[in-house]
Amino acid sequence: EQEVADYRKSVAIRVSGFDVPRPIKMFEDCGFSVELMRAIAKQAYQKPTPIQCQALPVVLSGRDIIGIAKTGSGKTASFVLPMITHIMDQPELGKEEGPIGVICAPTRELAHQIYVEAKKFAKSHGIRVSAVYGGMSKLDQFKELKAGCEIVVATPGRLIDMLKMKALTMSRSTYLVLDEADRMFDLGFEPQIRSIVGQIRPDRQTLLFSATMPRKVEKLAREILTDPIRVTVGEVG
Ligand code: ADP
Ligand code: MG
Repeated sequence: EQEVADYRKSVAIRVSGFDVPRPIKMFEDCGFSVELMRAIAKQAYQKPTPIQCQALPVVLSGRDIIGIAKTGSGKTASFVLPMITHIMDQPELGKEEGPIGVICAPTRELAHQIYVEAKKFAKSHGIRVSAVYGGMSKLDQFKELKAGCEIVVATPGRLIDMLKMKALTMSRSTYLVLDEADRMFDLGFEPQIRSIVGQIRPDRQTLLFSATMPRKVEKLAREILTDPIRVTVGEVG
């Protein structure tokens, strides 16, 4: 345990919550599929970043997480890699419809970046990713969602539009990510986030990532996460 504490300190990780899994040091420690390990190697990711070292085992254990780390620290892979594992573990994969993973991001640029990142790892598993954000034809997006996907990356407003149009059902969505939660609040998306969360099954796994943790985001986290583990990297939060 002292070794774990020293290791966390050496990479500036702070944790809170009960039964926190030990941090990992290498991607090999995650039990990822051969395909996923190959895709990671292809990205030339040699070792996990500090947030990944602690967030990956937390998320892979099925726990809810609040991940706080500054921009550029590798938060995307912290939720995309376990999401692939989560999806491949679904016994009913291919039988039902609608995304299993739902990711909300504040802007179309960020949603697009996550979409690109998710595609890199999803492709080799035959997992389909759809992006849903403003600036694209609603009809085209409607058709794409109707064709089916396992992962949807969306801005909150457009996702709500698509839900209203019944372009997708979230009945099998069990993995919800709120990325850049502080920016989503800054942009006034709190009502949309609450609406989306209210439409997703309560037995989901919920992941909230943010660069900062203002009081309003803290309050939302308390309401929508279940026994979360908080992982903070560096001086932020
Ligand atoms: P954040 O969401 O925290 O701002 P990103 O997930 O966008 O950060 O990652 C920032 C950059 O670091 C991206 O270019 C990404 O490809 C790269 N990256 C992520 N994880 C690793 C890793 N383990 N090794 C090397 N580069 C990585
Ligand atoms: Mg990010």
